[in-house]
Amino acid sequence: MHHPQQDRFQHTKIVATLGPATDSPENIKAMINAGVDIVRINMAHATPEWVAERMERIRTASAEVDRHVSVMMDVKGPEIRTGKVDEDIELVPGASFAFFTDPETKPSAEGVAVNYPCLPEDVEIGKEILVDSGLIRLKVTDIAPDKVTCEVVIGGELGSRRHINLPGVLVKLPALTEKDKKDLAAGAECGIDFVALSFVRQGADIADLRVYLDSIGSRAKIIAKIEDQAGVRNINDIVRATDGVMVARGDLGIEIPYAELPIVQREIVDRCRVEGKPVIIATHLLESMIESPIPTRAEISDVSNAIREQADAIMLSGETTTGKYPLESIEVMNNIINTIEPTVPTKINKDIVLDTPKSKMLRSATYLAQELGEESGILVFTKSGFLGYVLAALRARGVRIFAFTDDEVLFRQLTFPWGVEPFLMPFHEEAPEKTIQDAMAVLRDKNWVKEGSTLVVITNVLTRYNEIIDSLQVRTIEAERVVLDSY
Ligand code: PEP
Repeated sequence: MHHPQQDRFQHTKIVATLGPATDSPENIKAMINAGVDIVRINMAHATPEWVAERMERIRTASAEVDRHVSVMMDVKGPEIRTGKVDEDIELVPGASFAFFTDPETKPSAEGVAVNYPCLPEDVEIGKEILVDSGLIRLKVTDIAPDKVTCEVVIGGELGSRRHINLPGVLVKLPALTEKDKKDLAAGAECGIDFVALSFVRQGADIADLRVYLDSIGSRAKIIAKIEDQAGVRNINDIVRATDGVMVARGDLGIEIPYAELPIVQREIVDRCRVEGKPVIIATHLLESMIESPIPTRAEISDVSNAIREQADAIMLSGETTTGKYPLESIEVMNNIINTIEPTVPTKINKDIVLDTPKSKMLRSATYLAQELGEESGILVFTKSGFLGYVLAALRARGVRIFAFTDDEVLFRQLTFPWGVEPFLMPFHEEAPEKTIQDAMAVLRDKNWVKEGSTLVVITNVLTRYNEIIDSLQVRTIEAERVVLDSY
């Protein structure tokens, strides 16, 4: 089957959040065909049963269209939320409204419960409490051990379980809540590929999650969502500990002064580049397309900025969960990627620290492949994924990275890094040359390369003394088809 990606090569990956607008089997198939690389499931709105059924649909659709995507489960971490309400409560500017730490508090015009017992300790009189992405704002007027009373500054309708932001406060909730653990156990059962952890505040939060994932037998890679001041402050520590990062601009734009958001976004992307970790830019990229078939000019610029910064992936949230134009939103992202990427200056990442001779060889491979020009690519064989992730981080623009692995989990996890096209194929451990021939045949049969294309190949070779050594080779795709006996 021929896919659009084979003609218009894109480095920047697309993440789309699944919701009522996209979760039918037909829509999932359409979304995968439109070029989504990672499907995100937001556990703020999903139950384990919903996840299991959607996972099944995603895997079936992928197999049917022969294009594989990975699945990212986004767990909510230490999020403060208001309690359940049966009917929205109207908050009027100037009125008094309280947050009660007793979870049994009945909601009323006087106030609602909050899931955070330390709220009275963590706020100060005169400070702001922001509700529902900052749409509702209150100022603290009184603090008692079991309640925080406020004056409504900006009013609105308060719905059920709305998210509260306390800018600058280091929230004393565990990195992983009991609900997160339940969600993850269900996710592990059905084979999620990535876990995005909300409100990561330090590297140790990632370590805790890793221990938990190991304990439930999940090999999911971890994506640290940076969305508050602690996350920004500890970014070096977090990037080192994690497998990937998300710049979660929805919350981040409330938790830090909003004018600093572009600076922080760039700093996080740069840090990830230095550490060789992939990064997603999330939230509000095409927000207006929830209602409108075309994006605003400002959104086009924002998406283009993320592509110029060379983020690995850009993400859709409301646009594909409840939006009226989910497929159009993906198409708009494709169009902007295809238009902007060729204009980004070609600059190989010199900042990433490469320790071993083999990883240093990867940088040479990227220079060589770029020198070989348009029809070239890098062919790499990877069992741990490391080579694929580092090659992506080197940012060889215009060069495709064909990453072959014999591990199905890793195969899907390679959908994330910039410019990597993953392939699943058995390796011939004792005959590396046979593995290369098989891979080149797959690339030619699936129309990824043409006769005459040049590939820079990073592989093991066996010496005549039966030693395995690393090698960097230049291979040209030949006319004759190799007969495959093993894929
Ligand atoms: C965000 O805040 O930008 C984000 C992606 O997180 P969530 O959707 O969980 O609020």
